Parts: sequence; C-alpha cells; structure tokens
Amino acid sequence: MARRRMVYEGKAKILYEGPEPGTLIQFFKDDTTAGNGEKHAQIEGKGVLNNRLSELFMTGLNNIGVPTHFIRRINMREQLVRAVEIVPLEIVVRNVAAGSMSKRLGIEEGTALPRPIIEFYYKNDDLNDPIVSEEHIIAFGWATQQDIDDMISLALRVNDFMSGMMMAVGIKLVDFKIETGRVYEGDFQRLIVADEISPDSCRLWDIETGQKLDKDVFRRDLGSLTDAYTEVARRLGVMPRNTSSGSGPKLVH
Ligand code: 5GP
Repeated sequence: MARRRMVYEGKAKILYEGPEPGTLIQFFKDDTTAGNGEKHAQIEGKGVLNNRLSELFMTGLNNIGVPTHFIRRINMREQLVRAVEIVPLEIVVRNVAAGSMSKRLGIEEGTALPRPIIEFYYKNDDLNDPIVSEEHIIAFGWATQQDIDDMISLALRVNDFMSGMMMAVGIKLVDFKIETGRVYEGDFQRLIVADEISPDSCRLWDIETGQKLDKDVFRRDLGSLTDAYTEVARRLGVMPRNTSSGSGPKLVH
C-alpha cells in the first residue's frame, strides 16, 4: 500500500492527505504535552479515547446544525475530516473561573461566572499563545469582524451543547477551547468547528466531588489521565462499564 503523505504534525495529532480532494485523515497520538511542550509524556490509550470522544461531540454538533470538519471515524485512532484553512486563533469559552483566567485576574478557581466569557488567543507557540483582543485580530488580519461574530456564535452554540451533554452525566463544563477553519463553497466561504473537542481541550469537573476529569490531571500531576478520560467516556456511554485502566481502553462500536 502506498505510504500516505503527511500534511502536518502537531503535538497531539497528525494530519495525512485524505482519500478525496478536500479531505484529511486526522490521527490521534498518545503524546501528551503541557506548558507549550515543556512537559511531555506518552499516555497509552489517550489517542484512542480522544478520537472516540471528539467523534461523539462533533457528530452531536453536526446533528444539531453546528457545522464541524468531522466526517466519520475510520478506526481506533483516525477520523476523516474536511480540509479547512485554520484560523490562527484559539477560542476559549469559560463558564467557571479556572486556569489562566484565575491567575491573570486573581479570581479563585471554581468561581461561577455571571455569563459565559469568550476569549481569543493567537495560535503561536513561540509566543506561548498570547491572549488578544478583537482589535488585534482585525488590525493584524487574522480574521474579519464578520468572522469574529461567527466564531462567537459557534463557540456559544458549542458551549450550550457540551454543557448540556456533560450536565446529564454529572460533569460540569468549566471551560474549553475550540478552533475554527474556513471552507470554500463556490463563491462563499464560511467557518466551521475544526481540530478536536476532547478532555485535552476542556476542563471537566465532577459535579458532586469536584474531581478533575481533564488534562489538568496531567498538567498538575493529579493521578492517572487515562482513568480520568475513561471515566468521561464511560459516563457518556462510549465505554463499557468495569473497564480497568490496566487493560487499556476498550471501545463499544
Ligand atoms: P487556560 O487559558 O485556562 O489555560 O485554558 C482554558 C481552556 O482552554 C482549558 O480547557 C484548556 O484545556 C483549553 N486550552 C487552552 N489552550 C489550549 C491549547 O493550546 N491546547 C489545548 N488542547 N487546550 C487548550
């Protein structure tokens, strides 16, 4: 079989040329990084879990009319996605203060916010993804005002959908990050949700105990990341009950 052409390799995923024009294959690695790559580990099974969870969230979003790049899952670690032109911005939505916002503004982690707060970060590893304003985004040509309005609308719809889905299984969606990409359809272009949505890019806290079920487990050395992600997958019904972390994740098809 001919070797596939790699298009891009990131910290947690690889993109390969897809089977048809306008498609890519997104491969989920087990590599886990924090602090812009300062901390790095291989966590067995993480890629499998994120592939499955991102499929679940993106399929749900597609079904309620929030456009995403997801087409279908191919196997345990790969999914077929639409090729997009990635907008160089991370869009963060926060429902509860945590992480960098708590540090920056001195707000105690866990403080409920009066409304969802949206922030933009410029995707640039050399600069550690700095927070930017709409003024910066427009002045430097990363996106137009219309794009910003569309990104905010997409982000809030993702927030509503994900919050509800998590709430139903006893998990609080504290915050999350999404990325968007441009697709061209005839004379029109529009933005769709791209990249991944997984416990790598969300903060997820158990509603009862406050236990962290996301990448902060790795960032802050709080225990087994696989156990945390497996618990999220189990509650959402994509893993069988009684899966011990020792034997690795088993998927339900
Ligand atoms: P914070 O700004 O507090 O570090 O992150 C806010 C939210 O966005 C968290 O859920 C975090 O996981 C996510 N996030 C921010 N930057 C990145 C990033 O570069 N990669 C990933 N996977 N998630 C991010």
